[in-house]
Amino acid sequence: PPDPVLQALQHEDVARLLPRPGAESDKYRRGVLGIAAGSARYPGAAVLAVSGALRGGAGAVRYVGPAGDAVIARFPETLVSDQGPDHAGRVQAWVVGPGAGDDAATVAEVLGSDVPVLLDADGLRLADRDLVRGRTAPTLMTPHAGEAAALLGVRREEVEAARLTSVRELAAAYRATVLLKGSTTLVADPGGSPVRVNSTGTGWLATAGSGDVLSGLAGSLLASRLSALDAASVAAYLHGLAGRLASRGAPIAALDITEHLPDAWRDVV
Ligand code: AMP
Ligand code: MG
Repeated sequence: PPDPVLQALQHEDVARLLPRPGAESDKYRRGVLGIAAGSARYPGAAVLAVSGALRGGAGAVRYVGPAGDAVIARFPETLVSDQGPDHAGRVQAWVVGPGAGDDAATVAEVLGSDVPVLLDADGLRLADRDLVRGRTAPTLMTPHAGEAAALLGVRREEVEAARLTSVRELAAAYRATVLLKGSTTLVADPGGSPVRVNSTGTGWLATAGSGDVLSGLAGSLLASRLSALDAASVAAYLHGLAGRLASRGAPIAALDITEHLPDAWRDVV
């Protein structure tokens, strides 16, 4: 039979993909994630991305950027550096962009690395398309419909009316894996694999900072050496499930999602 166009993400697939530490694991071998996010104006985005990353399987999270004090105050387990990404020390993957403001130089520096990079929020706006296309390591982009529309040069309504086409077009245009957020999440890779669909979420996930938690979580799975397609799929699944467990029908704040990630993880394994 021909490859299906869409593939619903199954519980068993996610269970098989979750990283599991072995006897020989240490925090470096489990993977170090670098996060370049936050700004004087939006320090909270850095805190939220770090929170998701700390519950996503990486052995350590390294933060670079101007929100180090806010990050440490909430999450003292974070390694904080005041150097730029190139001098922060070896990492297995990067997240760049949440709350980053207009720091295009940092985005370019991270894209110049030879490890997987997740681009979100301001990072999507500031990334040079040719630089992304020319990367040797995988790139994962995580736009919502408005961000996807800006990248494609169309109106938001056009993306919402053609989500499947839009996510595939973006993946081809950037030679990147693309996770398109919304009430369901679609994940397309540049090789034209069937587009993965996740629907574990709830409308209560539409809350400020929710996407920042997702980017840290997906980055952490990248640092744990999942492929970009698998990291994106597993992150969407866990984030949706954690949101549901946190909410149980009531409004939630973004950190509530993070706090329920271990419960979501245990539900899957
Ligand atoms: P962001 O817009 O970057 O904060 O990301 C919002 C997050 O919430 C993404 O993970 C979306 O998939 C999720 N989300 C937003 N609206 C809904 C909805 N109506 N149903 C389920 N998930 C949603
Ligand atoms: Mg966002």
